[in-house]
This record gives sequence, C-alpha cells and structure tokens, in this order.
Amino acid sequence: MVFKDKGRVMDGFYVTGHPSVPVYVLKSGVIFDGGFTALARHYERDIRDILGNTSPEYIFITHSHFDHVGSISYFKSVWPDIKVFGSVNAKKILSRNGAIELIQRLNNISRAHLLSYGVNDLYEGEFEPFLPDEVVEDGSVIRVKDGLEIHSRYTPGHTRDFMSYWIPEKRILIASEAAGCDDGSGYIISEFLVDYDEYINGIKRFMEMDVEVLCVGHRYVITGDDVRSYLLSSLQHAKDFVEMVINILNEENGDIDKTVNRVKAYEWDPRPFPKQPEMAYLLNTQARVKLIASKYMKN
Ligand SMILES: [Zn+2]
Repeated sequence: MVFKDKGRVMDGFYVTGHPSVPVYVLKSGVIFDGGFTALARHYERDIRDILGNTSPEYIFITHSHFDHVGSISYFKSVWPDIKVFGSVNAKKILSRNGAIELIQRLNNISRAHLLSYGVNDLYEGEFEPFLPDEVVEDGSVIRVKDGLEIHSRYTPGHTRDFMSYWIPEKRILIASEAAGCDDGSGYIISEFLVDYDEYINGIKRFMEMDVEVLCVGHRYVITGDDVRSYLLSSLQHAKDFVEMVINILNEENGDIDKTVNRVKAYEWDPRPFPKQPEMAYLLNTQARVKLIASKYMKN
C-alpha cells in the first residue's frame, strides 16, 4: 500500500505536519527529522495530538538538509528535555556558518512557497542553529520506551552525513532520500548527490531487510508488498538516470550547465506544485551531474 496522507500509518506510528515534508512520530516519544521551519506549529500540533501532555524524548535526524532539520530548534524550545541524535558528519555540517545560512535561506524560500499554496498558520521565525546532543554511528542501538530499539544505518549516498533508522520490532525503516523519492507520478527521483555506488549499495541493503513500513522522506509511506517493488523501481530509475545524463553530457560536449538545464527541463519543469524549490533542485542536480561526469566521462 502507498500511504499518501498524514496521520496514523500503523499502531503507534504517524506522519505529522504535511505528507510532502513530513516529521515521523512513534507514540513511544520518538521523532524522526525536523521538516520545514515554517511548518513548526503544524508538527507541534500533530505531535501533541499523538503524545498528549507527554514530551517527546528523542529526535533522530537523517541528514542536515534544510527540509529535514528546519524545526528541530523549535522542538527544543517547546520540549526542552528532548535529545537530538545524528551522525558525526551532520554535527560537523551543522556547526558551519555557510550551512546554517543555506538552511535559513531555503527555509525562507519554502515559507513563501507554502504561503502561495494557501497553507495557513506558518511559523514566521528563522531556522535557528542547533547541534545533535549525541552522535550515532552505523550499528548504534538506542533503547527507547515500550521496549523499542532504534538501529542506525550509515547510508552515505545522498549525503555524507546520512543515517537511516530501523525499528526492528515494528519493521519500520526511516530511509528518507537514501531510497529515492517518488515525484507523485511513479517517477523516482534518484537522490545520489555524493556517491552513486554507496547510494545503490544502500538501497540493496534495504532490500535485504524485512521492511513492512518504508518512509522515503517526502510524500509517501510505502507498506507491505509494495516496499520491494518500490526499491526495485528506485534502483532502475537510478540506472536510467545515469544513462540519460551520460547521453546528454555527450551531446553537450561535457558542458555541465547545459546538461543540468536539460535534465531540469525533463525532470523538474513539468512537475506540478508542490515541488522542491528550484534553487534546491538545481544545487542537487549540479551535484548529481558533476558526480556522473567525473565517474563516467574521464576523457
Ligand atoms: Zn536531502
């Protein structure tokens, strides 16, 4: 099944805020990722509906992109005892001024987009810097309430700071962009920004796990038999994307900017809103095209 809304996915596990930029919540007091800054109050309201007056205890962040950490500081201000977990590389990135400025800028652009779609009750504050309180590594196991364990998996194909999280008791995998993102039409955007081989290895690693609930970071939660077909399709889309980019690079004599524009015309321009802000899409696509050019266009 493909779950497209917010709300209860299975017993004790929920999508909050907005399905396009979700924050995932376990009733055991665990939050995964921090979404957009502008949606802070939406997440807070939904989390309070699930947890009542109990404060969430933990936040696990997958990576330090603007749309995955936007509301973390807000959560820390309303629930001061909450503890944030992330990778050592996420901690390094989140301590850099340049990264903080980019996260702020992209969140401000996203607030303007949300306004233009008519989303109400947006938080007007800026993204505030924070650092993870604790670092997790590949294989770290954190025990939380209700006998649940959160297992960390280092999957650095999308970004160097990427952690996926696995909850074996419920067979929930928070893979986020390490599994690729369906754009709503069945086309899966391939999200390898730093390492194609690690990205493919990560998806193959997910296929060896007995996943019941797959959270892909944006738009959908995939469940049951559809998990395997989604992951297979994601692998195929990644291979097709590389082939397409190599062909365009050849036609454009290796010109990165021209290639990025043609990829964007195919992949981003025709998509309906809501979609990734153009600036974020271009940054990611320059990274993907450069990676393919350096890997396959040696001459
Ligand atoms: Zn990302």
